[in-house]
Amino acid sequence: MSDYYIPFTKEMKKTHTILTPNMLPIHFRLLMKVLQEYGYHADLLETSGPHIRETGLKYVHNDACYPAILVIGQFIDAIESGKYDPHKVALIYFQTGGGCRASNYISLLRKALERAGYGYVPVISFSLLGLEKHPGFKLPLRAMQKIVYAILYGDLILHLKNQVDPYEIEKGSAARLADELSDILIRRLDEDGVSIRKLKDNMRYIRDAFAKIEVQPRDCIQVGIVGEIYVKFSPLGNNRLAEFLVNEGAEVTLAGLLDFFLYCTLNNVIEINRYGSGRVKRPVMNLLYKILCRVKRLMISIIEETGRFRPFAPFENTVANAQEIIDLHCKMGEGWLLPAEMLELYHLGVKNIVCTQPFGCLPNHICGKGMMKPLKDRYPDMNIVAIDYDPGVTQVNLENRLKLMLANSAAGRSA
Ligand code: SF4
Repeated sequence: MSDYYIPFTKEMKKTHTILTPNMLPIHFRLLMKVLQEYGYHADLLETSGPHIRETGLKYVHNDACYPAILVIGQFIDAIESGKYDPHKVALIYFQTGGGCRASNYISLLRKALERAGYGYVPVISFSLLGLEKHPGFKLPLRAMQKIVYAILYGDLILHLKNQVDPYEIEKGSAARLADELSDILIRRLDEDGVSIRKLKDNMRYIRDAFAKIEVQPRDCIQVGIVGEIYVKFSPLGNNRLAEFLVNEGAEVTLAGLLDFFLYCTLNNVIEINRYGSGRVKRPVMNLLYKILCRVKRLMISIIEETGRFRPFAPFENTVANAQEIIDLHCKMGEGWLLPAEMLELYHLGVKNIVCTQPFGCLPNHICGKGMMKPLKDRYPDMNIVAIDYDPGVTQVNLENRLKLMLANSAAGRSA
């Protein structure tokens, strides 16, 4: 355990506010609600701007992973903002416990806090694997079920919003609805408990609400986004990539957060099958994988009921896509999920793909950028562009590369 480890105690549950970085705005608002329901004072950090990156760079070396620089910068910026009593805050960071550098983010964060003079701030490592002990931070099984529901609702809202955004007649209506639905679902997570019937009702409610938004047909270029999880999803990490593409007349598609959890769970299953494990972990991981696949299929069937929206692909298809081109043991970082998602997008008819990756992120350069050639050899009409994000990235450079991709796609269509 790190030298700087400070446990989050039972007393702190009453006195401390837990600050959370905002990777996915819709999902994380719902997740905050689950924490609040179980007695935690939790606050989502929605700050943005170059000062976050600058703060991160003061305390983290610039060759560390870009997501770590941003997350640590956002935490320290919040502590120094004057909004919170530094002696009454704790920080939470979600970890998969995988083999990549992300498993060291907590140590980097603690070291940065120490250097900034906040070494007494507890950092909670939140992981399904229970990587660290924090006596004041324990969630019962029911809360974990609610977390899965929050992820499903968030994925569905994001997926449908992306399909309405570029076609809406009244600008901003899909984004407004996403916010309203988050508020409604926050209440329902509280009131409904964790019944499958309510889950289905709520998913139909989300679908029907988006179907009511008035749209007009437009000839949009379809663009898929894949990549390292933080820069793929976080508007802070990817300089509001999805918003930029929509403003340029594109329709954005990306797989949800559930797929990342399915990927991590299946990696555990694969590892257990190859190397063996304790008697408990094998059935637990197998069961969890089956349940998550089933809930994804449930969401797909609900989207398909009306035929109005394009559904997700079942995760089993994603795995089959991966097996076509890469070994499933390539599981550092986002590993085999990257080419699998690119193929999934391609088979959905989305041939323009932005692969977002932190500069110097070795696993994603191997499984993302490194897989572009084999993918293009098989599917020459795939138009993939790899976008590196780093502390020195300029918006104009990013935008030029994206505009070039869109121009190539438009030229290909009119040829
Ligand atoms: S996947 Fe890349 S960005 Fe993420 S921890 Fe690993 S090296 Fe860093």
